[in-house]
Amino acid sequence: MKLSPLAVLLLPLAISPAQAESVAPLEQVLIQVHACSDTIILRSQSLSNEQTQQACALLQKQEANFHQLFNTLDKPVRDDNNTSMRANIYASRDDYVKYVTAHFDVPSDNGGMFLEGLPHIDGNQAEFVAYEKQGQIWNLAHEYVHYLDGRFNLWGDFCASLHDSHSAPEYCPQPAPLLPHLVWWSEGIAEYISQGDNNPKAIAITKEQNYALSDLFNTSYETNGGSDRVYRWGYLAVRYMMEQQREKVETMLSFTRNGDYARYQALVKQWGTSMDADFQAWLKTLK
Ligand SMILES: [Zn+2]
Repeated sequence: MKLSPLAVLLLPLAISPAQAESVAPLEQVLIQVHACSDTIILRSQSLSNEQTQQACALLQKQEANFHQLFNTLDKPVRDDNNTSMRANIYASRDDYVKYVTAHFDVPSDNGGMFLEGLPHIDGNQAEFVAYEKQGQIWNLAHEYVHYLDGRFNLWGDFCASLHDSHSAPEYCPQPAPLLPHLVWWSEGIAEYISQGDNNPKAIAITKEQNYALSDLFNTSYETNGGSDRVYRWGYLAVRYMMEQQREKVETMLSFTRNGDYARYQALVKQWGTSMDADFQAWLKTLK
């Protein structure tokens, strides 16, 4: 859920605690604060006015798109106090590597992370850490969908959901829940909403490799992972389910929104291989 396309392999931290303590504090680095709206706040090192306006516009478009797609009526899952998301944007990848571990207690070997925190606690602040690359805020749209999905589709904090990541900052307990997990959905919906129909890399990959849809439901981060399977095939699985099996998605979300993850797993097992042939036929129609 919090891993970006570059974060599949977690490496040891490059910054030791002693070094981390010596860098400038967050308030002296992310010196610009801009509220796009009541729900979106940008805190940045050096975004220009124009970049700030563009980022606000992109996020507000995604937000509206998400609410329409899921007909949320702006009603979050119960116990969710993440009324707003704050994006923390470093000026470059080098700045990100230099500061992010000291500022947020997260690894820096990734392309950005969403930090849901403990949404059941009043006053919890959902954060997202990212950096500028090639004049853009890298993975901005993808990470923001995690916030919306976490607030409106998936009950509980990151550890309550089904996956096998045990890394910082949550250190979710071992052992991981049994399969199926929800990684295909959470990473797939982030890719689907941020890229829409325009995802040529995902479509190209279907010419080189293949998965049964029933196998993709067993995708996770450590087991059955890898960036192609998690992000590209996650996108394809979610796009198929959203466009061709929407009623099944609604049933599924009725469980995940209530935190009834055991029923979600029973449902996916009940689906079994029933959609596999149709998924393969649908893949062939993608251009
Ligand atoms: Zn992600």
